[in-house]
Amino acid sequence: MTIERILPNDESAALLELTTDLADRELAPRVNDFETRGEFPRDIIRTLGRSGLLGLPYSEEYGGGGQPYEIYLQVLEVLASRWAAVAEAVSVHTLAIYPLATFGSDEQRAALLPDMLGGELLGAYCLSEPQGGSDAAALTTKAIAVGDDYVISGTKAWITHAGVADFYNIFARTGGPGPDGISCLLADAATPGINPLARERTMGLRSSPVAQIAFDDARVPADRLIGEAGTGFRIAMSALDSGRLGIAACAVGLAQAALDYAVDYAAEREQFGKPIVSFQGIGFMLADAATQISAARALTLSAARLRDAGRPYSIEAAKAKLFATDTAMKVTTDAVQVLGGYGYVADHPVERYMREAKVLQIVEGTNQIQRLVIARSLTKS
Ligand SMILES: Cc1cc2nc3c(=O)[nH]c(=O)nc-3n(C[C@H](O)[C@H](O)[C@H](O)COP(=O)(O)OP(=O)(O)OC[C@H]3O[C@@H](n4cnc5c(N)ncnc54)[C@H](O)[C@@H]3O)c2cc1C
Repeated sequence: MTIERILPNDESAALLELTTDLADRELAPRVNDFETRGEFPRDIIRTLGRSGLLGLPYSEEYGGGGQPYEIYLQVLEVLASRWAAVAEAVSVHTLAIYPLATFGSDEQRAALLPDMLGGELLGAYCLSEPQGGSDAAALTTKAIAVGDDYVISGTKAWITHAGVADFYNIFARTGGPGPDGISCLLADAATPGINPLARERTMGLRSSPVAQIAFDDARVPADRLIGEAGTGFRIAMSALDSGRLGIAACAVGLAQAALDYAVDYAAEREQFGKPIVSFQGIGFMLADAATQISAARALTLSAARLRDAGRPYSIEAAKAKLFATDTAMKVTTDAVQVLGGYGYVADHPVERYMREAKVLQIVEGTNQIQRLVIARSLTKS
């Protein structure tokens, strides 16, 4: 289905056209193969980098695209409609760059950002731990200052790009308990003592590697501290505000792909001598899905426009993540229903879409945590 978009200028229209072309050429023909084999498409990510799609919302001064967030999110949406794991990879990479790009010193940015924004170096964001995902402020991984280094010990869990990333953004405890004892460090993946463990066997996004990472006294130079010591939790949460919009955009793209597939199928498939789309039970389900997707897209882009305008957007980002990912779960589940038995088998992509939608309700703060954030904001003056 063609999406009517209001774009700020011809440049953004050309960028979306380039993305759609690239997604049709490079992603759509390969997704099934890579998802079945569970192989991470590093070369495809490199191609996206060379096409300028890995640093879109960051400053042109360091090789970024200088694009408004609202445009970056629509690029993600297009990618997710062809291959959710690739869109998620772009979103995670963008999240991993955020602390350096936003809180790093001029020297750190000049030294490190160009290769990250060009896609030569792939990033990962290491916040969650085996004992704590939602309660991130309770994290226990330690970073102890020793001479000119921080020595990191502990275990991170559920790290997307574990083992394939070139750099890791690590949130570790340099001080006492609670959020004020946490700092942000940027480590090269080749640092001795950074050891990715066995890959998780995930329900969906199987081409995206996820694993625990053991930090066995890994020495990271003190000049890789991002921001001040003790500000890491604030950096992590600020990064997640932006990252949640990325997940919302992935959810919109995934839901749109499921709806488009279900509509085409329902128009072709006949029962009782008629296309099943002509039955109100099916037509209304598709109508609800189309409406929910439009609402999810509008909510996501509205939050992005607040961000682009330099206005507070944290709560709107939580609402967008919550609504868009719940929409993706509902729409992909309904798409399976529209296909009947054929929806339940891997011959059609809707069963994959449904598996992929589930994780979007969990990552970057579960949807319960989004509700908590939104509920708390309601009682603040
Ligand atoms: C495929 C995948 C990729 C991931 N990638 C990354 C990554 O790259 N980097 C990273 O740091 N993390 C990553 N994560 C981790 C993810 O962010 C966490 O799984 C998530 O934050 C939830 O943490 P948890 O799994 O420990 O669940 P828990 O925090 O144990 O939560 C369990 C359940 O309790 C609910 N719950 C918890 N607290 C409350 C509360 N106060 N009120 C109501 N309900 C509550 C949760 O919503 C959930 O339903 C990834 C996870 C997955 C599955």
